[in-house]
This record gives sequence, C-alpha cells and structure tokens, in this order.
Amino acid sequence: MLVRNFIFWLSTKKTLTDAIARRGMRYGFAKRFIAGQSLAEALEASHELNRDGRSVSLNHLGENVTTLDGAVGVKDGYIEMVHELDRKGLDGNISIKLTQLGLDIGRDTCQKLTEEIIAEAARLGRTIEMDMEGSAYTDATLEIFEATRRQYDNVALAVQAYLYRSAQDLERLAPLHPKIRLVKGAYREPAKIAYQKKSDVDANYRRLLDRLLGGEFFPAIATHDPKMLEDARARLRERGLTDGRYEFQMIYGVRRDLQQQLREEGHALRIYVPFGTEWCPYFMRRLSERPANCWFVLRSLVAESFGGTKES
Ligand SMILES: Cc1cc2nc3c(=O)[nH]c(=O)nc-3n(C[C@H](O)[C@H](O)[C@H](O)COP(=O)(O)OP(=O)(O)OC[C@H]3O[C@@H](n4cnc5c(N)ncnc54)[C@H](O)[C@@H]3O)c2cc1C
Repeated sequence: MLVRNFIFWLSTKKTLTDAIARRGMRYGFAKRFIAGQSLAEALEASHELNRDGRSVSLNHLGENVTTLDGAVGVKDGYIEMVHELDRKGLDGNISIKLTQLGLDIGRDTCQKLTEEIIAEAARLGRTIEMDMEGSAYTDATLEIFEATRRQYDNVALAVQAYLYRSAQDLERLAPLHPKIRLVKGAYREPAKIAYQKKSDVDANYRRLLDRLLGGEFFPAIATHDPKMLEDARARLRERGLTDGRYEFQMIYGVRRDLQQQLREEGHALRIYVPFGTEWCPYFMRRLSERPANCWFVLRSLVAESFGGTKES
C-alpha cells in the first residue's frame, strides 16, 4: 500500500512526470500501456485489436484543461476521433474526461461541449463513455451524464466501486437504463467517502455488479482482477446472460493473457486505448496499481539500453 501511494503521489508531480514523459516514448517503455502519441497510431492499434476480435474505446490523454480555447480544442479533437473511427470502419467508441472539456471552468460550458460530441457521435451511430474522475467531480459528472442521457441513447458512464455512494448512484441512474462501466476506482480517496481495503472494494464491486446484472443496465465489467472476472463469469452463467447483453473491458497492454482468455471463451471485450503526449500521470496510475509493473519498466530500460528484448 505504501509503495502504491508513493507512486500515485509521484504521478501528481508535474516536473517529474514531464521529465519522465520526455524519455518514456524515446526509450519505448511507455508503449506497453500507451498506444502512441498521435491519433494515427491509436487508430493503427485499434485496427490490430479489431482484427483480434476486440472493440476499442479511444481516450485522448490529458486532464484538467482550464482555458475555454483549450477545452474547445479537446472537443474538436474528440469529434475528429469519432469521424476517423467511422471513416476507417473501426469497431470502437470514445472515452472522455469531463475535466478535459472545461469542468473546472464551469458546468454549463462543459455540458455544452460534451453535448456537441455526443450529438455528432449519435449521428454516426457511435457511443461516448464518460470516465469517472476524482471525487471532487463525481456530482458534476453525474449531473452532466443524467442531463445528456435524457436526450441521447449513446452515452455511458463509469462508476467506481470504492466509493460508498455508488450503490445509491446506481439506484438514481437505473430509470435511465444506461450502459455503466463498473471499475474499482483509480484515485486516492479518504476513508470518509471510500473503502480503503481491497477486500472491501472487491465486496462492493460484487454487490454493484449484481445490481448491474439485474436487467435495468447494460453492464461493462471493467477489471483485470482474476477473482472478479471469475465471479462475473459465474454470475453471467447463473443468469443465462448471453453475448450482446454485457461486455468486459480492459486497459491496453494490461493482463493481455486474461484478455486473450476472455476472447477465447467468446465474451465481448472492449479495450480502453489511451494515446497522446500527456501520458505520464495516466501511466503512473497504472504503475501504482501494480508496483510489479515498475520492474517491467526497469527491465525494459535495461534491455533497451543494452540492446536486449523489450517484452515481459
Ligand atoms: C476499461 C477500464 C476503464 C477504466 N476507467 C476508469 C475510470 O473511468 N475511472 C476510474 O477511477 N478508474 C478507471 N479504471 C481503473 C480502475 O478503477 C482500476 O484502477 C484498475 O482497473 C485496477 O483495478 P482492477 O479491477 O483491474 O484490479 P486491482 O484490484 O487493482 O488488481 C487486481 C489484479 O489485477 C491485475 N492488475 C490490475 N491492474 C493492473 C495493472 N495496471 N497492470 C497489471 N496487472 C494489473 C493484477 O493481477 C492485480 O493483482 C478503468 C479500468 C478499466 C479496465
């Protein structure tokens, strides 16, 4: 836990993340978890994943855009992504973060920009998935989600199992019959609002999953935890839920063995594909989830410096 918290803390230090970012792509260790710096590279990675029977959710990395011009630029970028997915006939959708779309500037601005993306995606038959960020943004994200979902079918939301409030949030969302991506939660939240022990987060994940499988939602089961995956499969079998009524989701480059297994078993699987130049805080959150990944990075650095192999 100490190591996880330390790596997470480092991920919030901009001078450090900028320094790592300057080296990461050059040395290649970031490529395991980031599809590339450009949209073209992300589309290429998506094409390969589609060939393996996996759909994708593209995410342009970056958080907390605080100028209107910046937020409008992000919005235009997302619309371009939807067009490119369509033009290339790829099986995929888009994941957005509301802080990239001006949530810190104002709720109305953010909602307006978000609606523009959703409307254009609706025209092209694509879905927009809203990531859930730190707890300072949970209320606003839920409100914007509800407002847009009332107008559009093609919008989904992530819900975090570590928050105590999530069970109530699902009750609130149930009448909208939305697609919900169930995740454990990637930020550091205090005990006042969030479970701290893995066993408690896991227990809540199972409870929320039961609720999601009850018929009012389209569940997206987003985890790399072998135990959660086993439980989810058992629940799907018990309920006789077949393909088309749920999906699994995993992150690009993470537990590729489990990704392969799910596909071999015939489950629908969507891969969250992050790309962009601002990849370091995201990358370090992935490291903090599994400190063993630090060894992967170190091994890659050593191997690449001395001309060895890159893969673990
Ligand atoms: C598709 C997708 C979208 C997400 N969207 C959001 C979001 O919108 N908001 C949010 O807060 N969080 C999001 N997350 C992150 C999530 O909240 C967790 O932080 C992350 O998935 C780790 O939790 P876990 O369920 O995979 O398992 P954990 O309990 O963290 O780990 C259990 C086991 O899973 C494996 N594992 C987990 N992470 C890794 C890793 N990085 N590398 C290698 N193995 C690993 C290991 O075997 C580990 O022992 C998303 C996750 C996924 C898969």
